[in-house]
Amino acid sequence: METRRAAAWVVRVRFIAGATVLSLAMATNLAMTARAAAPSVRLSALSPQQTDADISLHGRGPLGALGPTRPRGPFAFCPVDRPRHYRDDFGEPRYVGGYHRHQGIDIFAPLGTAIRAPFDGVAEVSDSWAGGLQVTLTGGRGFVFNAHLSRAGRTGKVRAGTVIGFVGNSGDARGGSTHDHFEWHPKGGPALDSFRFLNAVCRPRH
Ligand SMILES: [Zn+2]
Repeated sequence: METRRAAAWVVRVRFIAGATVLSLAMATNLAMTARAAAPSVRLSALSPQQTDADISLHGRGPLGALGPTRPRGPFAFCPVDRPRHYRDDFGEPRYVGGYHRHQGIDIFAPLGTAIRAPFDGVAEVSDSWAGGLQVTLTGGRGFVFNAHLSRAGRTGKVRAGTVIGFVGNSGDARGGSTHDHFEWHPKGGPALDSFRFLNAVCRPRH
């Protein structure tokens, strides 16, 4: 077990919905000999698939900047039905209710458009001055928070794709464009930019 262990590569292969996702973890033993072990697989040759867990662990580093392929994400359904539009406005400065960074992505759609559970979970309704009528869906990988609803949908245990609310402009969006303020909190932690994960399920074919 000597020099051959200069570099150990671990390749995990997953099959998700017919798509093969490769994620590569490399363990290098720096104490071994200086023999240049040319790795048979290079990072740059792999699809830059990142899960939310990868991003949480490693930040949005170079992997996320490689290539146009879509990441495998936590969502199985687009949270808002068509017609809809959104852009990556996560982190933008907002001033209503005091200065803060936008913690979600605003998905604009007509009043009453269905808001769907992007994964299996438990839906709960709440309300606040800022968010108006809100619904939180908690699943195995984290929770999503939807605000400014006009009406609640099904609550309690729901499957992915179930209508859990309807787009509106309640709370501090009153009088403005109707939209779903959509936040993604992996593992129940701080909100993360879900733009890439939305793209995976909201465009262009979905
Ligand atoms: Zn918002």
